[in-house]
Amino acid sequence: MFVPDFIYYEKDIENYELGRVLLEKYKDIDKKIIENHNNIEEMRKKSNSEFSKMKRALIIGTRKTHKFVENHKVSDFLVPYTSSGCTAMCLYCYLVCNYNKCAYLRLFVNREKMLEKIIKEANKAEKELTFEIGSNSDLILENTITGNLEWTIKEFSKNNKGYLTFPTKFSMVDSICNIQHNKRIITRMSVNPESIINKVEYGTSRLKDRIEAINKLAEADYKIGILIAPVIMVENWKEEYENLIKYLYENLSKKAKKEVFFEIIFMTYSYVHRMINGDAFPNSIQLYNQDLMTGRGRGKYMYKKQIKEEGEKFFREKLFEYFPDNKIIYIV
Ligand code: SF4
Repeated sequence: MFVPDFIYYEKDIENYELGRVLLEKYKDIDKKIIENHNNIEEMRKKSNSEFSKMKRALIIGTRKTHKFVENHKVSDFLVPYTSSGCTAMCLYCYLVCNYNKCAYLRLFVNREKMLEKIIKEANKAEKELTFEIGSNSDLILENTITGNLEWTIKEFSKNNKGYLTFPTKFSMVDSICNIQHNKRIITRMSVNPESIINKVEYGTSRLKDRIEAINKLAEADYKIGILIAPVIMVENWKEEYENLIKYLYENLSKKAKKEVFFEIIFMTYSYVHRMINGDAFPNSIQLYNQDLMTGRGRGKYMYKKQIKEEGEKFFREKLFEYFPDNKIIYIV
């Protein structure tokens, strides 16, 4: 259970029920009132080496903009929702790119307004729309602090139109397993080989626990997916990822194996990640590989075309070998 070292909050959160609950819950933690969660000067000025310390802070405010961004993978829209950032420290996390602004966990207490807008959009659409509510944070992790995901699932499932989806790297799913969801929620577990979780995904759940969680979610009748993401081409990547797929085959329940779909995402990285990770985690694995990666504009790196093609072929073959009947939604 995450207990913050320090809290910054916008005064206005006292006008929201969740705001009051959080202030009471953390009444013994040092706090400071801020004007705007987007701009905390003393956090902005901190050096990269203080990164993990910054992750111990919690920021609470309200989300002012509710812009939906079109998406064409597993959802129709990416929707900023009840949190941004995270307490974990995956070395590749794209939220790190703006880390002075986004990397630490920010909670937004005006959840009613955000969900209301989603429901309105879902109801006025001619077709069933899917809304990705977990692209800015990890909602399973956030739920352990706010209970927001339980609340969201209960409220959304009363509406008989549209779907919500979110990915997670956390296993604390028990509290959402016994609630009404009306099959309107698509939960997606992100996995990587255990050795990569250990070296790269600091502060997230173990592989074994993530698989147990996806089995529980399948048992609770949620729609389920597995993201093999991000694929990191370490030296023995083929062996590592084949073992992972085999592990999934051996440890997913019969129901999960029957229903699960896959998404595969190759890692992208950036100059900013390299700088922060170099200062904050000097002994960590080097994710940038000059031989395998190429620039993608604005300081970003991606795996070279032929390397990715080899990777795509590998994943299609191996998934077909172990999961011939399961859909791969996309490989990017
Ligand atoms: S769990 Fe997700 S949001 Fe949190 S640090 Fe890792 S990639 Fe980023």
